[in-house]
Amino acid sequence: MIKVVKFGGSSVANGCQFKKVKGIVDSDPSRAFIVTSACGKSGVEDYKVTDLLYLIHAHIKYGVPYDSLYKLIYDKYMGIKEELNLKIDLEREFDLIKDLINKEVGIDYLVSRGEYLTGKCLAEYLDADFLDARDVISFNYNGEVNFERSEQLLQSKIKKGRKVVIPGFYGSLPNGAIKIMSRGGSDITGAIIANIINADVYENWTDVSGILIADPRVVDNPQRIKYITYYELRELSYMGANVLHDEAIFPVKKKNIPINIKNTNDPDNPGTMILNDCSKHDAIDPPHFITGISGKKNFSVITVNKSAVSSEVGALRKTLQVFEDFNISVESTPVGVDTFSIVVATDAIEKYVYEIMARIKEEVKCDTVTLIDHIALIAIVGRGMSNKPGMSGKLFAELGLNNINIRIINQGAEEIDIIIGVENRDFEKTIKCIYDRFITRSDTV
Ligand code: ASP
Repeated sequence: MIKVVKFGGSSVANGCQFKKVKGIVDSDPSRAFIVTSACGKSGVEDYKVTDLLYLIHAHIKYGVPYDSLYKLIYDKYMGIKEELNLKIDLEREFDLIKDLINKEVGIDYLVSRGEYLTGKCLAEYLDADFLDARDVISFNYNGEVNFERSEQLLQSKIKKGRKVVIPGFYGSLPNGAIKIMSRGGSDITGAIIANIINADVYENWTDVSGILIADPRVVDNPQRIKYITYYELRELSYMGANVLHDEAIFPVKKKNIPINIKNTNDPDNPGTMILNDCSKHDAIDPPHFITGISGKKNFSVITVNKSAVSSEVGALRKTLQVFEDFNISVESTPVGVDTFSIVVATDAIEKYVYEIMARIKEEVKCDTVTLIDHIALIAIVGRGMSNKPGMSGKLFAELGLNNINIRIINQGAEEIDIIIGVENRDFEKTIKCIYDRFITRSDTV
């Protein structure tokens, strides 16, 4: 059994968190590949190291002194070193970083130093080998990870019987220059390593005990999702659930490696298991009809009105072309007989909305083009909904009973998600109603 374990920023925010990480790693010998984020926030008054590094970069760019920011980072690592009695020569590491900053190295180098320094400290503390991600994660110039090369590099560096710590979030280009991933990218590093070494499990340690059925800022004390498919998670994440980096799923899904979301502050909690297929577990412990609910506010709906537009060939394509010309991604396209609508994020069209509407009118030669703002989209996701007649009836009836007006309905043919659009002001109420009907009162489904 081999496990890749990735610790997020809050799991390594200070010496006390490092001790919890050590407890977790030492309690299971299969936890041999450890990926770490940069130190995160210790509390509300604290800062994430990566945020500070981005800020330093901005200061350098505009010629503003950055010493106080630099000192915050320096003090944070010095504090960890002292608390854990580490021998690492941080003075030398910081001198080197400062030297390279002054030589105007790029933002990728600077911003990756959070993971690098955290990884160095953690490796010493766990008595593991430190493998610089620069020497292990290889990117092609087009930004894609070169799995073959990364595998060769990693295999050549691991020593039998030794644990390794690899900093997340960055790797290197063929010319050796550091390249960072998008924010939260350490999740992706963990997934890449899990793929390369064919891990049995990818454990992603964070500060929540798994993925919750609904946002706890909306629903009080929502239940944990025990098992979820990769596919369901993609749907929930796309609509706003924020646990794992979107791109972290692909490398593990390809090799059918389960992801286990766990809580560093509550290690005995089983957390959430993300699998390709949950049917084995579902047979023992049947899931709720709904696996999760997520949503986002602030969408706009542009509606094209023209008699019999549904039988006109090309009207939808011409409209979508306008959005493509403005490089705007479209969310959905509900179609009627004399109308069809385009749902898009408001902030994506805000700047050009009237230009877009005028262009559509011109291209489609329609009667009117109207705009509605302040729409929230809510995704109700669940493998338990598939092939269950009456599910949407119950959903809509519940919302009707609660006086919630549904403006958009969209269900995929696989029937694992229903997306509804409601007024922004009904967003929280809608999620609460759905949670109450299908989770709290699930025995009445
Ligand atoms: N430190 C990086 C960030 O804050 C990457 C990560 O934590 O995964 O985005």
